[in-house]
This record gives sequence, C-alpha cells and structure tokens, in this order.
Amino acid sequence: MQKKVVVLGGNFAGLGAAQKIKEYSKDDVAITVIDRKSYLLYVPNIPAEVLENRNPELSLTMDIRKVLHKEHMDFIQAEITQVDPVKQTVTITPNERPGAEPQIIDYDYLVIAVGAKLAYDHIEGFAEYGDTVSDFYHGNKLRKKLHDGTYKGGPIVVTSARFHQGDGADGLAPYPGGSIPQAMAACEGPPVEISLGLADWLVRHKMGDASKISLVTPGKMIAEDAGEKVVTELLNTAAKMGFKYHNNVEDVVKLTKDSIIFANGLELPAELKIVFPDWVAHDFVKNIEHVADSKGFVITDLLMRNPTYKNIFAAGDCAAVTMPKLGAIGHQEGEIIGRQIALDLGHMSADKANEPLKPVVFCIGDIGSGKGFYIRSDSWFGGDTQVLKMGRIPYMLKMQYKDIFFNTDGKVPVWGEEVARILAEDF
Ligand SMILES: Cc1cc2nc3c(=O)[nH]c(=O)nc-3n(C[C@H](O)[C@H](O)[C@H](O)COP(=O)(O)OP(=O)(O)OC[C@H]3O[C@@H](n4cnc5c(N)ncnc54)[C@H](O)[C@@H]3O)c2cc1C
Repeated sequence: MQKKVVVLGGNFAGLGAAQKIKEYSKDDVAITVIDRKSYLLYVPNIPAEVLENRNPELSLTMDIRKVLHKEHMDFIQAEITQVDPVKQTVTITPNERPGAEPQIIDYDYLVIAVGAKLAYDHIEGFAEYGDTVSDFYHGNKLRKKLHDGTYKGGPIVVTSARFHQGDGADGLAPYPGGSIPQAMAACEGPPVEISLGLADWLVRHKMGDASKISLVTPGKMIAEDAGEKVVTELLNTAAKMGFKYHNNVEDVVKLTKDSIIFANGLELPAELKIVFPDWVAHDFVKNIEHVADSKGFVITDLLMRNPTYKNIFAAGDCAAVTMPKLGAIGHQEGEIIGRQIALDLGHMSADKANEPLKPVVFCIGDIGSGKGFYIRSDSWFGGDTQVLKMGRIPYMLKMQYKDIFFNTDGKVPVWGEEVARILAEDF
C-alpha cells in the first residue's frame, strides 16, 4: 500500500524534499504538498533584481502546481493551522476563496518545511521608515525608492535584528567535536550582499560610494557562520572600499525618519534603513508538543527526524538544526529526508541512507557590475573548510544557478553543484 506523505510548505525546502522522496520511493508514496501560495518565491535573487530596476515578481516565481503535477504529486493551496502528531493529522483551511471550511488530512509521514515568519512587525518604525529585500513587496518598494528619485543620496544603514534561537539543536555534533552554535542573527549573507551591491549602485549612479554605507551586526562578527578567516577577508575588502562597520549592537530598537537606534545605545543617521528581522517560528508549529523547541523551531536529529515522532521530519528554515537560515542547507536536508523514507520503505540500504547532515554555508552573492562573492565554509560547525572567492565567476554562477533551477523545475543536478565548486575555487 502506498504511504501517504504530506509536505507542509512548497518553497525551497518543501519542494526539494518532496522531489527527493518521490525520486527514491517512486510509486510507493503518494505525496501531497500544502502551501498557502501556489508558486515558489525565489528569494536569493531579489537584491540583484532590485538594484537592476527589474520587477522581481516577473522573474522569480515558479508555478509549483505544474511542477508537482508533472511529477505525479498533489498540491493543495491552503492555510495550515494545526498538526496532531498522535492522530497523525494536519488541519488546513483551503484559501483560494475566503470562508472555506477547515479540513483534516491524515498522513503516514509528515515533512514540516514551512520556513519562519520574518518578524518585521516586531521592529518599531519599520513600517514607516524601513526597507528590505526578502520578498517581492518590500523589494519593489525599495526598487522604486532607488530608481524613481525618492532616495536623495543620504547615509544608508544595513543591519539585522537579533535572532532568538531555540534549544532544539543543542548537543548535536555535525562534525567531530563540533556543534550547531547559537547565533545572534539568522542569516547575514543577504546584508553583506545588498551592502556590496548598493556600494556599486551608488558609484554607477554617481551618488557616492561605500563610505555612505554602515554595515551593522548584533553579534560579535557579521556572518560569523562563514568562518573567521572568510569574514576577516571580507571585512578587510569592505574597509578598503570605505564601508563603516559596527558590531555588538545587540538588536535593533527603533527606526525613525532619519536614523536607526540600536540596543547598545548606538544611533546612526540613515536615509535608507535596510533591515533583516528576527526569524520567528510559526504559531501552529510552536504548538506541536515534543516537536517544537523552546522557540518553536522543529526538533530533529541530524537525519532530520523528530526523536519523539519518528515519522515527522523537518527541512529548511523551520528546522532547529538549520543555522544559519540558508536555502542551501534546506536543500541538503531534503536529500536526507528522501533517503530516510526510502530506507523505511526498503528502497535504500542503511549505509547509503544514514549519512547525517554536515551543514555547509554555501553562499553566492551579487556585488554589482557583473561581480560576485562565493563562500563555502563549514568551520563554524567544527569542519575545516573556509573558502572565499570574489570576481566574475561567482556572479556568473549566481545567475546560472537560478536559470538551471528554473529550467530543471528546481532539480539542480549534483554535478551542477560540483561544477560550481570547481569553477569558483579552481579558476
Ligand atoms: C535576500 C535574501 C537572500 C538570500 N540568499 C540566499 C542564498 O544566496 N543562498 C541560500 O542558500 N539562501 C539564501 N537566503 C535564504 C533562503 O531564502 C531561505 O533559507 C529559504 O528561502 C528557506 O526556504 P524554506 O523552504 O525553508 O522556507 P520558505 O522559503 O520561507 O518557505 C516556506 C513555505 O511555507 C509556506 N507556509 C508557511 N506557513 C504556512 C502556513 N501556515 N500555511 C501554508 N503555507 C505556509 C510559505 O508560503 C512558503 O512557501 C536568502 C534569504 C534572503 C532574505
């Protein structure tokens, strides 16, 4: 009999996990993906589209209904409101038309891949004075400010609010003697990327240069998950370009019309305030007993299984072990879940399936004028790799990755990643 697999969330982690489960377990699984929207939001290229004055809504969506249909998986567009791990059910409310009645769906396996809430609503003054690039609405708002003359060339601050990480990954050691450390910010590749890109934009638009931009982190070092050697190199480059840098600001307290105020008392003048918020767990996930950690992220082991309910998995930003909150780590986790379910159903040997998560910070950023940065690092977790490359090849890889992602319906071949590594690191 087919096993019912329900995947909650259809963005990077949900779609990736569903495809891997299907690939390895074929017709032994009936997969249903549930999401409140029927498209994949390709977040990583929003900054590039904003700076090039292209509407990201037109270039960065993929219709997941069609992709799933082609691969013989079902899709339901609905709001997920509850999970009962004992009865093995999920409560949803279809959301195409308002007023729909709640429905209960049962499962044999559940994959939770619903990301997190980006808590801009927790930041005083953000609605009036803040900008960001994590979704189409905010991306387009910033794009218009930059390109229609609203932005007059004043100081710019790019920063992150403090992340409140739970205890769900405590005690896990992905590398010998390593850990999933506690972080002060959820994901600081994007602030670095948009800062470098904006500096280039200012020069190209004859409005100044990097000296107008302050890069600010709540922690002791920005993007510390990329490793000290990589970050030191990045910061040296940024300092030579003229960027200002502030660390240990603890948190964002308030945005005003002309400034931004931090928890350590620092106040910086700013016409543009580009902020990345706290990543907060969804309420319905927080309520799943023995599944949610102290902050509502999903507790798993390094094989992405919940230790209490072994038929529940998590992937992507909602998983406690996903630190930093990077799509690339969610991708590794989808592969592991596919293998674990294949092991349960007798399609894969334990040797092959029980390869635990070894997170790698893999981040490619656009820095303008056809250049980019490339980071591959695992030292934060206890590994020994720290690579930083800057130049034209990383930019080309960032753009090519997106094209390959769309052309393969999200199934970027493993050789594609290997070629990217060779191109970035050996040329
Ligand atoms: C500007 C920016 C640039 C980035 N660049 C990179 C990069 O270069 N490389 C990289 O690896 N990562 C990057 N990231 C991080 C990456 O975007 C995230 O890690 C990734 O999107 C997480 O994927 P996910 O599927 O876990 O969660 P999400 O993308 O948040 O998807 C969660 C899905 O669940 C659905 N959902 C949530 N709650 C419910 C509910 N109650 N009912 C129904 N549906 C629900 C949502 O609609 C959504 O589709 C970047 C992030 C930002 C903000």
